Amino acid sequence: METEENSTIPFLDTLVHREPNGQLTTTVYRKPTHTDQYLAYDSHHPQSVKRGVVKCLNDRATRVVTKQGGKRSEKHHISSALVSNGYPVSFLQRVNKTRPREERQEQGYCATAILPFVDGLSQTLRRCLRDHNIRTVFKSDTTLRKQLVRPKDPIPPGRQDGVVYKIPCGECDKVYIGETGRALDTRMKEHDADVKSKNPDKKVKSAVAEHAHKTGHYPNWKNVECMEKDQHWYTRKVKEAIQIQLHPNNINRDSGVELPKAWLPIVRKHQSGGKNNRSAPPPTSKRPDPTRTIRVTQDPVYTSPDEG
Ligand SMILES: [Zn+2]
Repeated sequence: METEENSTIPFLDTLVHREPNGQLTTTVYRKPTHTDQYLAYDSHHPQSVKRGVVKCLNDRATRVVTKQGGKRSEKHHISSALVSNGYPVSFLQRVNKTRPREERQEQGYCATAILPFVDGLSQTLRRCLRDHNIRTVFKSDTTLRKQLVRPKDPIPPGRQDGVVYKIPCGECDKVYIGETGRALDTRMKEHDADVKSKNPDKKVKSAVAEHAHKTGHYPNWKNVECMEKDQHWYTRKVKEAIQIQLHPNNINRDSGVELPKAWLPIVRKHQSGGKNNRSAPPPTSKRPDPTRTIRVTQDPVYTSPDEG
């Protein structure tokens, strides 16, 4: 239990002072372990987040501090703490001068786009989307938690579910692009059973088996690739359709879900090696991204007709 010390007692982020005249006044309370570490100014975050840090600390000073002369010393403390976190003085002055904006008319937006934040690109995208009455919210994908916290053992590639995969033909350069919500191994067993099934009366279930039966080629099960991972069936279908566009040498019976026509030039640009694509990795990069391409080494196993 907290007890009064030197006529003060902390309560949440408030330090309550008992003045000699019996009046109670308040200042901001910081734990003895507090280090005045805030989001560094050079962090890869939207400017709005940094403005929010400054505004939030100053708002707290305005709201919480009632002690005589306390507001000025609290604001002085905030400024020096933020400057040591890399915030330029001019930035702090600019934010403090800005008057609170009128409540924005949120219901005017027809949709919300949630995008990863990429400095220099995201701001332009937000402006474009705003012109189309779409609100933009930025989210951070690469967080320390995501990078460091691995509470579970990794799932072997063949047992991962919700994937877009590529089966190369063992004899020619044709490939098959498919997707499944189930484990990749399970789907490969089904494809393999279709390929091995020689019953002429039975309708051939998969395009992989059809190619195998027509040409006598056998799929290269050892080099099956997991190209995308997505638990959501529709976005997985879209990713499958994109991969089909990126692999014109496919033996698929159809192109999957219909992609908006506006996407095709971007998809084709990506296909041509993304020469103008600034986000493409440099050619010297030898380390493949393990989340993008997972090779399956287990033997194929047995399938459901609604999947590809
Ligand atoms: Zn072939």
